[in-house]
Amino acid sequence: MRKLISLLASAALGAGLLTAPAFAQDKGTVGIAMPTKSSARWISDGNSMVEQFTKAGYETDLQYAEDDIPNQLAQIENMITKGVNVLVIAAIDGTTLSNALENAAASGIKVIAYDRLIRDSGNVDYYATFDNFKVGVQQATSLVNGLKERFGDGPYNVELFGGSPDDNNAYFFYNGAMSVLQPLIDAGKVNIVSGQMGMDTVGTLRWDGAVAQARMDNLLSAYYTDKQVNGVLSPYDGLSIGILSSLKGVGYGSGDLKMPIVTGQDAEVPSVKSILAGEQYSTVFKDTRELARVTVGMVDALLQGSVPEINDTETYDNGVKVVPSYLLEPVSVDASNWEKVLIGSGYYTMDQIK
Ligand code: BGC
Repeated sequence: MRKLISLLASAALGAGLLTAPAFAQDKGTVGIAMPTKSSARWISDGNSMVEQFTKAGYETDLQYAEDDIPNQLAQIENMITKGVNVLVIAAIDGTTLSNALENAAASGIKVIAYDRLIRDSGNVDYYATFDNFKVGVQQATSLVNGLKERFGDGPYNVELFGGSPDDNNAYFFYNGAMSVLQPLIDAGKVNIVSGQMGMDTVGTLRWDGAVAQARMDNLLSAYYTDKQVNGVLSPYDGLSIGILSSLKGVGYGSGDLKMPIVTGQDAEVPSVKSILAGEQYSTVFKDTRELARVTVGMVDALLQGSVPEINDTETYDNGVKVVPSYLLEPVSVDASNWEKVLIGSGYYTMDQIK
């Protein structure tokens, strides 16, 4: 009987006879602090969270800080003052939020670190992210495969780029990549011609593509006047596009100067187009809809008095505590699988790419 009633109700709903409540009201407000709109992934993270939190019955306050640390701090303080129930934060600088989070804790506001770990604070309750070490492993694996495919057996001339030194993820990406590259460097298969290695040397503040482009210009003029670069480890699509402009500027990708293998991350539209044009070699897709789903699940559990689902309690020591985490799987994407992964999953439509 109950089945029948619910069948009838859904038929009535389907026919537009009844209006379903859009969501259960008043479960609380979630403050969402995102770093910047200058990269499409964060826009998509924000949109997915608002959509999914709304469906789950929460109000949201979504703010972007345009990569300005004081701006993000002010936004977070403002959310605390307004009395949000929980904070979801993708930090610009993962080390500058300790005081604000102390205030949050004093007001009973739970904090979730989103994608990027918040460091040096005991007031971080959970961390939702991807397997960041694996992202680096995938980038370097793709680099090595590309080098073999385009340049034969080697040895190969390679340069390394790192992400922003104030972003904990940048070290995980770099270390993951070096776990693959260091043995090849030691064996003389990969030459870092400039000798520039280590995050303190190859990091790119604020993940800025223009900074990466300028550094690539310098590397080319200082070390590559009489040799060719075969590969560039790039940890993020925005850097890859800058690096590729620099390479193209001195003739790579035309005549007999083959385009070096350039990696990336985030599967941003310009990079997917670049892969299709035979320029960027690969990227790493991280489904931001999934990250939003995990985060909404964590918040819902926290606020409804149950225990959030986690799958890692060892990896992310923030300097004060190991933050219980949920790690999602990244996916390496290149010309061979982009359509299946990015269009097949509905992340992009074909119109956005072609
Ligand atoms: C994110 C990457 C992103 C980078 C630059 C990192 O913290 O994990 O997905 O490419 O920031 O925005």
